[in-house]
Amino acid sequence: MPNHQLFDNHGRQVNYVRLAVTDRCNLRCFYCMPEEGIKYVPKEDLLTYEEMLRLMHLLVGMGIEKLRITGGEPFVRRDMMDFLRALCRMEGLKKVNITTNGTLTAPLIPELKQLGIHSINLSLDTLDKARFHQITRRDSFDTVMETFHALLEHEIPTKINAVVMEGKNTEDILPMVELTKQHPVNVRFIEEMPFNGEGSNSPTLTWHYRKILSHIQSRYPDIEKIPDPPHSTSYNYRIPGHQGTVGIIAAYSRTFCGTCNRIRITPKGMLKTCLYDDGVFNIRDLMRAGATDEQVRETFLQALGNRAKDGWEAEKNRKFGLPIQESMSTIGG
Ligand code: SAM
Ligand code: SF4
Repeated sequence: MPNHQLFDNHGRQVNYVRLAVTDRCNLRCFYCMPEEGIKYVPKEDLLTYEEMLRLMHLLVGMGIEKLRITGGEPFVRRDMMDFLRALCRMEGLKKVNITTNGTLTAPLIPELKQLGIHSINLSLDTLDKARFHQITRRDSFDTVMETFHALLEHEIPTKINAVVMEGKNTEDILPMVELTKQHPVNVRFIEEMPFNGEGSNSPTLTWHYRKILSHIQSRYPDIEKIPDPPHSTSYNYRIPGHQGTVGIIAAYSRTFCGTCNRIRITPKGMLKTCLYDDGVFNIRDLMRAGATDEQVRETFLQALGNRAKDGWEAEKNRKFGLPIQESMSTIGG
């Protein structure tokens, strides 16, 4: 039997897939998409649930153990819960995680708990209702907070993802750190990345990870570094006496590429071997052309055998323009 384990040409094993199940979203976070939205992929061009299940089945056979469902907003896609039920039954798939904006999630949480969803990343950039509206261009703050409390109540391991943006939410950094005092939550601050779908206003990175950390240290001088889990994209910290932890993700500075264990699949079936590349091959087209399982596996192995060593190289090799012309909702974060 041939060895189909997914290793790249730099010796890194890939065991984690981020699957963006839709590019559609009910928020308009300004760092992700323009106010008028993006040109959505026509429905027939999205990977179907059957195609995604076939793909995941093949990838699990190649050593994938962890899946993150992302988007767009995963829960705007119809029948999402049926898909999650099927994934949670898949033998060999050890962890199914979800990243969500929390607008439609609260009523689903009891079932997500029952299914055994391993953890949920809730995107929340501010604890202030007015700033939430400015950032997301929608008035859903209370609903998202309801989701946050329901996640805690059901004891689903929860991370909060907050993109740090000069002039928008830096006053929220310390209050969000304070959330870790009362709640067993991992609050993660993310450097803003250049994927806003606008093709303009490339962010200048004022709030890089070192600045975020020193800002937190100015209020919490006793903050301690804790070990980062293997392949972690975040630097992790704990404040003595707090129940939760704090993470900082150098998503723009790209300090974590050396141990990268992940690939991404976009809503229309493009494989990305790096967040910053513009797609390596289209799996949907391959499958719809009638490829056998063996052919699909071979194509993955070839793609991983030719992977950029880091996000800087991947960005340099892009064929179809700069990241800024893409919306993060077509990639999944
Ligand atoms: N809609 C879901 C949500 O917001 O959680 C899932 C998809 S969203 C694209 C995934 C993650 O990407 C979110 O945590 C979001 O904050 C992050 N994101 C989107 N655009 C970003 C950007 N330009 N820089 C950094 N993070 C970004
Ligand atoms: Fe939607 Fe998530 Fe993008 Fe915000 S970050 S617009 S919630 S896909």
